[in-house]
Amino acid sequence: MNHTGLAGLALLALFAAGTVSYAQAQTVSVYAQGMPRHWQDEFGSTLLDAMSYWEKTIPGLKFELASRMEASDFVVEWASQNEKAKLGYYSTSDLNSYGKPVMAVTLGFFDGGKLQMLSPESALEVTKHELGHAIGMQHSANPDDVMYHTVDDFESLYSVVQVLDGPKNPHAASTKYQELAGSLVVPLEGKITAAKASLGVFSYGNNASDQILEDSWLAYWWAVKYLDYAEKAQMSGGASALQSDYEKSYAEFKAAYEYANLVEQKLALVDENIAKMNALK
Ligand SMILES: [Zn+2]
Repeated sequence: MNHTGLAGLALLALFAAGTVSYAQAQTVSVYAQGMPRHWQDEFGSTLLDAMSYWEKTIPGLKFELASRMEASDFVVEWASQNEKAKLGYYSTSDLNSYGKPVMAVTLGFFDGGKLQMLSPESALEVTKHELGHAIGMQHSANPDDVMYHTVDDFESLYSVVQVLDGPKNPHAASTKYQELAGSLVVPLEGKITAAKASLGVFSYGNNASDQILEDSWLAYWWAVKYLDYAEKAQMSGGASALQSDYEKSYAEFKAAYEYANLVEQKLALVDENIAKMNALK
């Protein structure tokens, strides 16, 4: 993809319209959240590359990396999420845990329970786009422009920060936890059935593994119980959300998500025990 020339044209139009908030060609100070080490090989230079793209595109624009968040104009955050649809956003709301506008870029997403990483090229496109927003660029109607809207399309969507760090925005947090809980809960019924079948092949009478078998059944029953709690919390969350009581639905969906995690833990214990019992056979 070649965006450079077209983005330049779009930029001139925006300068003419006076809509670029950093049009005075100044230094923009960016605080970049540390990137997890295992992502650094592929994505370690993404932000710098995106910065130099805009520095070349906008005469006089300079970025600097702030060593302290307080001294920055905005924060850059790296994320992974549950949906392919949302690859980045820039939010000027300072109602997050940073107290600063946040630009987020998704480097990976969970697809069918599996983490898929973006290609470095795609991550760079998303980062350029969000950085564009951060310096005041609007969406372009030109599909070849880096500011074309499909690159993110979710200025109205919500911050991972807000979701993970608490209900500063209860509606957003509620929606996010509803998704998280939903994606976790759905496969659990099947996993519980499978765990029961796997445990069913073991019988008591082998002194070495009797205790493990008993612990396993106990873990299994807790898994069943927790799934029940998770489903009930999901239903309450749904009812509260319908009444626009997002403080409540947030808490309920979060509880559903946490119960679903407990189910996973118990089922993992069952799996672990089955391996031990097989070893003792
Ligand atoms: Zn956008």
